[in-house]
Amino acid sequence: MFENLSDRLGGVFDRLTKQGALTEDDVTAAMREVRVALLEADVSLPVARSFVKTVTVKATGSAVTKSITPGQQVVKIVHDELIKVLQGEGAPDALRIDNPPAPILMVGLQGSGKTTTTAKLAKRLKDREKKRVLLASLDTNRPAAMEQLAILGQQIGVDTLPIVPGENAVQIAKRAKQQATLGGYDVYMLDTAGRLHIDEVLMDEVQAVRDVANPRETLLVVDGLTGQDAVNVASEFDGKVGISGVVLTRMDGDGRGGAALSMRAVTGKPIRFVGLGEKMDALEAFDASRVAGRILG
Ligand code: GDP
Repeated sequence: MFENLSDRLGGVFDRLTKQGALTEDDVTAAMREVRVALLEADVSLPVARSFVKTVTVKATGSAVTKSITPGQQVVKIVHDELIKVLQGEGAPDALRIDNPPAPILMVGLQGSGKTTTTAKLAKRLKDREKKRVLLASLDTNRPAAMEQLAILGQQIGVDTLPIVPGENAVQIAKRAKQQATLGGYDVYMLDTAGRLHIDEVLMDEVQAVRDVANPRETLLVVDGLTGQDAVNVASEFDGKVGISGVVLTRMDGDGRGGAALSMRAVTGKPIRFVGLGEKMDALEAFDASRVAGRILG
């Protein structure tokens, strides 16, 4: 369905005579192809534009070496720049979960994969970092969601806070903190309520929970297939609640991963993990080079 960027650029550069360095005209022609490739990968237009601008400056005048074709050279410059944007400054830091019990707030819209991701991350912390984790669902509007977390907890061998009917989200958050402290847990994760769209009631509730929990990490779960919408959701949540990182779900789908680039470029927040399926093990640390490869096709 998608033409590979290297192939596209090969076509552009075939028409050019061999020169010692890439001229501005060569690069301009190539950048049209890069822009199309980015847009096809679902990168937002402003982000694609500014990305192309940066790469144009880097590529113009760069020496053409004998070992690779000009097309390959531009692909390499684009690839390196993609990784730079996707990764941000320095290596991605580990989750800040020292000083037990460390609260992690999970936020996001309904259907984004928040509850599944909460359980996947709990399993990862338990298996890889030998952490004792307590899970709590704050979704008082949807008893089924609370039940779902309890079932997943059982499945992965992680404790969940007993459900007490009639409590509100803030009360549950306080009880989770108390239980995590008394029970000697390393981490407690609060799975907040999701809604179909961002609205004031949702944000007020998340803010109130944030204020009592004082989370060490606030992770936003967004559906990686929703492209620009995912970026808008992230900007909204970051503005209202303040997020420390993003988890992109459904990266096992046929999206081209462009949302990751827009997300990083627009919000400046690190993508911590990607969801790669429905199973409890289908969560991986974000790998910039893998996503860059996917965007390039
Ligand atoms: P929530 O409403 O945000 O809590 O969403 P859920 O956690 O209930 O997930 C909604 C659906 O998406 C469920 O069927 C999950 O199994 C599925 N899901 C979650 N993450 C992923 C993922 O990374 N890949 C795929 N393919 N499905 C996912």
